[in-house]
Amino acid sequence: MTNNRQTLQQSAQYVKGVGPKRIQALHKLNIFTVGDLLYYFPRRYEDRSQFKPINKVTIGSVETVRGLVRTFGLRRLKGRRTIFQLAISDSSGVIYGTWFNQPYMKDVFRIGDEVILHGKVDRYRVLQINAPEYEIVKNEDDEDATIHTGRIVPIYPLTLDISQRYLRRLIKHVVDTYAVCADEYIPAEIISRQALLPLPEALQNIHFPREAELIEPAKKRLIFNEFFLLQLALALQRRELKEVQPGIAFKIHGRLIEKFKAALPFSLTASQTKVVSEIEADMASDKPMNRLLQGDVGSGKTIVSIWALVICVQNGYQAALMAPTEILAEQHFRTIEKLLAPLGIRVAVLTSGLKKKEKTALLQAVRGRSVDIIIGTHALIEDDVRCKKLGLVIIDEQHKFGVAQRLTLQKKGMMPDVLVMSATPIPRTLAITVYGDLDVSTIRELPPGRVPVETYWISEKKRLDFYAFLRKKMKEKDQVYVVYPVIEKSLVKDLKDATRMFEHFRDTVFPEFKVGLLHGRMKDDEKKEVMRRFKDGALDILVATTVIEVGIDVPNASIILIEHAERFGLSQLHQLRGRVGRGRQKAYCVLLSQKESEDAAKRLSAMTTTTDGFKIAEYDLLIRGPGEFFGTRQSGLPELRIGNILTDRDILVSARQEAFDYLGHYPGFLEHKQAPLNTELLERFPNTGEFFPAR
Ligand code: ADP
Ligand code: MG
Repeated sequence: MTNNRQTLQQSAQYVKGVGPKRIQALHKLNIFTVGDLLYYFPRRYEDRSQFKPINKVTIGSVETVRGLVRTFGLRRLKGRRTIFQLAISDSSGVIYGTWFNQPYMKDVFRIGDEVILHGKVDRYRVLQINAPEYEIVKNEDDEDATIHTGRIVPIYPLTLDISQRYLRRLIKHVVDTYAVCADEYIPAEIISRQALLPLPEALQNIHFPREAELIEPAKKRLIFNEFFLLQLALALQRRELKEVQPGIAFKIHGRLIEKFKAALPFSLTASQTKVVSEIEADMASDKPMNRLLQGDVGSGKTIVSIWALVICVQNGYQAALMAPTEILAEQHFRTIEKLLAPLGIRVAVLTSGLKKKEKTALLQAVRGRSVDIIIGTHALIEDDVRCKKLGLVIIDEQHKFGVAQRLTLQKKGMMPDVLVMSATPIPRTLAITVYGDLDVSTIRELPPGRVPVETYWISEKKRLDFYAFLRKKMKEKDQVYVVYPVIEKSLVKDLKDATRMFEHFRDTVFPEFKVGLLHGRMKDDEKKEVMRRFKDGALDILVATTVIEVGIDVPNASIILIEHAERFGLSQLHQLRGRVGRGRQKAYCVLLSQKESEDAAKRLSAMTTTTDGFKIAEYDLLIRGPGEFFGTRQSGLPELRIGNILTDRDILVSARQEAFDYLGHYPGFLEHKQAPLNTELLERFPNTGEFFPAR
């Protein structure tokens, strides 16, 4: 006896009409089992249910007609080409179906068959449809069921070796036979609360709806299922981090933090204060903190993170701060050292520039606890960095790190608190999908006195005018970034690069000013030196690549010119723009761009219309889709079969609520490993396996 689940897990090859060759093609669509076919959803639908009287069809529109076969014939054309034509008529007129180079069509029809044709109507002397979808209404094979026409028809995504018609017939058969085997796994109370359709009915209607109105509820049901499982997996992960593992209960108040507050160079914004108190509450609790701190570029995340560092050190623990680039690690080091060394806190930075001996000594010091705060890049997660007593891990600019790296670093401590900072504000829907296991704190306002950066999109014609403007500004001691997409001359024709433009500026355009160059292929020492000189005001212009994209903080720099702006992504442009407008003087971002695609034009005009990082991020997400937004492979974004986190937000939010509530009400639900919900969860998200109680 096989149960329903086993039935759906059978190879798709056992389904009628699937042979060894077809199964190969199906594998390319990721279809292996009967269940996979059931869950292979249409990309869209076509309503072919309304038949037009033949004399009422509109030339140029897609129509569905129905009639009896009057004549047909195959003709040979020049070369080896053929044309097959079929005439059908209803009481109002005659229309032809035409198929080029498909001679076998001559064996498909018989005079008098009732036939439905669907496609775009043309007129070449006669009314005709080229390569129509067709259906023979009465046919021994198909019995009475119309599959391809005369109804709302599903259109599936395909590969080369599979035809729409074949797949549609196959899925029709599978749905009719096996949809009933789709056992319910969502708890009954949730189904009734959310008014969800029974699962077999939803599967039936998502593929072959009798009416258009039936599609939405079916979709909702299936999307809900998917999001519910996803959120349940995230809820479990979060519980594991927060509750099962004991964390450190830090004392929030103390001498050190008081001294730090007294020494702060400015007072916090209301938003920063709120976020600090959220972090304090997490740190005070004996559960590990797992918090995402997000805020627009320049909103002042660094000082908030330093606050957390001080609390950690005050409690006698060490802290690690991980940055995405060496330049940024170096910058954090200088900021933090300046603020905290006077308080007696020992700060060190691990960079790849260190000599072997220095590195060994540093690692020794970290192990021996004579360093309180260690700052570095992903080198920190290499194995030889061992903290004696790690209490807090801060990861800056999260989107450059993978989820796995986050976990590795976390495992270095007992169960240190983790604070992840992101300068690409993540729209809420995305945050709860990808970081559903993290709490989110958001800094919503910028420090006072900031004037929004003025953004202009200019063309080559304005180049010289703009140079004149730069000259004037630099005479007033403003500093300038100029950004290029590539380091050196590349194969792409007419592409300006950082190296040659640096020389051009230095020797020809701005000989009276100091020009520097910064890019990723320079040695670390050189990079450090250039950054230092720019920061100290010894350079007027910094010509750079996107190495300056994240985090660089030079408040006196007030103008950024981005050349070939069309080659940058929207979030990237916004990050680059965030390099300026950090001081009190008026700041400008100038996008120089010649030939833009439509998408690029959208990005550039978005840049000129808003400086709000959250709006930019939402927009970017819409243009690029979630996978690319994060860089698919490291994103940890789950593959979704039907749910779309952008368009199905409402369902996502309610599925999340239900999943987290469910875990709250039934904390031990994983104990019945065989329960339908649990089997399904494990199958869809195998990594939840570790949360099941051991046998
Ligand atoms: P980001 O959030 O992009 O990391 P930073 O932490 O680098 O931003 O802060 C940007 C700039 O704003 C820094 O120069 C910082 O010193 C300054 N800043 C941060 N908070 C405040 C504040 N409350 N008042 C005034 N200036 C602030
Ligand atoms: Mg920062």
